[in-house]
This record gives sequence, C-alpha cells and structure tokens, in this order.
Amino acid sequence: MQKPQHMLSEYICKRNKAQAKQFETLEIDFGIPTPMNELQERFFTDLVFIWRFYVDDPSTWRYNSPIFRVLCVAFLRLAAWDFEVSSNCNVELPISFASIPLWNYPDADVYWFHGYLVVLQDELESIAMINGAVSKAESYIGDSRIRYDDVRLIVISPRHLVFVELSLEIVLASRRLVLLSNYSATQCSSGFRALARILTSNCWKKPRAHREKWPVNMPPEIVQMILHKLEPRDAIVFSQASFAAEQCYYAPESQFQNIDVRSFKSSIPCCGKRTGLETHGICCSECHAWQHLECVGLENYSSDHRYVCMGCQGRACMVLDPGGIK
Ligand SMILES: [Zn+2]
Ligand SMILES: [Zn+2]
Repeated sequence: MQKPQHMLSEYICKRNKAQAKQFETLEIDFGIPTPMNELQERFFTDLVFIWRFYVDDPSTWRYNSPIFRVLCVAFLRLAAWDFEVSSNCNVELPISFASIPLWNYPDADVYWFHGYLVVLQDELESIAMINGAVSKAESYIGDSRIRYDDVRLIVISPRHLVFVELSLEIVLASRRLVLLSNYSATQCSSGFRALARILTSNCWKKPRAHREKWPVNMPPEIVQMILHKLEPRDAIVFSQASFAAEQCYYAPESQFQNIDVRSFKSSIPCCGKRTGLETHGICCSECHAWQHLECVGLENYSSDHRYVCMGCQGRACMVLDPGGIK
C-alpha cells in the first residue's frame, strides 16, 4: 500500500496552500501494563543508556538525521515487540563514541509500521508543527485507495510523540508526550510507555477482526502453538498477517512460556506488584505509571481529578539537554 516516494514533494507543495484543519484533543486510555510492557520499559531505559552517546548529541535531534531514524525504528520495534535474533553481531562492546548502530531503518519521513502511519518531525512544540506532520501524512496517503479516516498517525520527534486520528472534518491529536528526556536512561518516558501499550494492546487499534475470514475455525490454542514453534522473526510476520494471530502474539502466555515477570518496578513504581490495580489503582496522567491508592496514601481519592504522581510533580520540566542523559 505504500506510495512511491517521488510523489511526496509534489503533494507537499499542493497542501501548503490548503487550509489548516481544526484540532481537538484525543484521549486514549492506555490500560494496565502487562508483563511484556514491564520488560519493554526496562529495555527502553537500557537502550537509551547504551546508545547515550547518540541520544545525547544534538546532531541526532534533527528528524532527517540518520541516527535519529535508526533510534526511532529501534524504539518502535521495541514497543511492538518486533525483534529479529541475529547471530551476526558486529557491534563492539562496550558501545562508545566510535560504535555505530547497524540495524536497518526506513529512509523516509513517513512510513507504515504495524498498521500505523509513522511521521517523523523536527519538533512538536505547537499545533502548527503537528499540522505540518498531518500535511506530510495527507500527501503520503494522497488519493490512494486507503480510506482517509482509517489512518492513525504516530508522530515522532526526537523529544516528543503525538498520536493523531484523521477524519474529514477535524483532526484529533493527543497531548504531547515526552519521548526522550535527561531521565530516559533511568526511567521510562511517558511517550515510550504509551507507544508500547498502543502497539501491544487494543487500546487504540481499530477493530478489524470482522474483515478476517478464515475457512476453518482455528482455536486460539492452536495459533499459540504455532507462535511458540516459530523463530521470533517468523512469529512477528505470522502475527502481522492475521488479526487473530496478532491478538495471540500479544497475549502474555504466548511470549512468556517459561518466564515469570515478578516485579513491575518500572511500570508500577510504588511497590512493583500488579495485583489490585483494577479496583485500587491509579494512573499518573503525566508519566502513565500506575500506583496503588494505598501505596500513595490516597484511599479516599475520587476519580474526577486528574492525578499527577509525586515523581512528576517534583520534576515538571522534562528537558533533553546536550550531554544531559544521567
Ligand atoms: Zn503499590
Ligand atoms: Zn507520573
């Protein structure tokens, strides 16, 4: 379904003259973290720490920098639990200024990823900048056969992340979430947290299962047996080929057959236990980490208020400084 790249510049010229669309806020309920989300968050902080020489460097912070593109696709694939296991690893350890990330990355500003349209932007500080990303996406979609209001965008800049839903009249855009800050090597950013939950659950997916018609009624247990037998690369390809398989792929049993995640110290930082969140849990509206009401001393909390955890209150400005990664 991808449009050839040479169409891009022509469409951008056309779009600049058109009127900007009206924006409204998109609210997404990201849900309670799964064991997979916990591991993803820890891998994220490790990845940022290991590649901090690049993350820290302002020359990475342009959307057209190859290093930003390399890191960006790494974050996306980590968030989608989309790995290939390779025995051919030429990276010298420990990773230093001389190391170069060697994995493949898309060479475009706009590309499809797991059913979402990813748009890379320099900055997402204002509505105008988000609008710029929307026009890039519109020109990419162009007059292809994709239904315009079927498209959901993940707009990524080196520091931030915005989720966008297109429709013919208005554009729904989420609040701007922090992707990378000075703290990202020790604490998972809200942007990555949201990205991982969106890509591994149904919290923002369009229900598309009705489009799928399998000739036989395949029980999920069989799909899971197939997923267990496959190599990681083949399992992800299989899951992308079918909505039923995708659901099984992201179910905890299919990933962690013999592994038990016991502590959720990243995604549930109060006590690290996942039990009781449905009834006695609270999600911070800034960092999207969960906590138990009793752990934070809020037994009488009423859910009308927007909750911001202690960690986020003490650290209102989530900046990314050159060389600032702790
Ligand atoms: Zn707790
Ligand atoms: Zn918080």
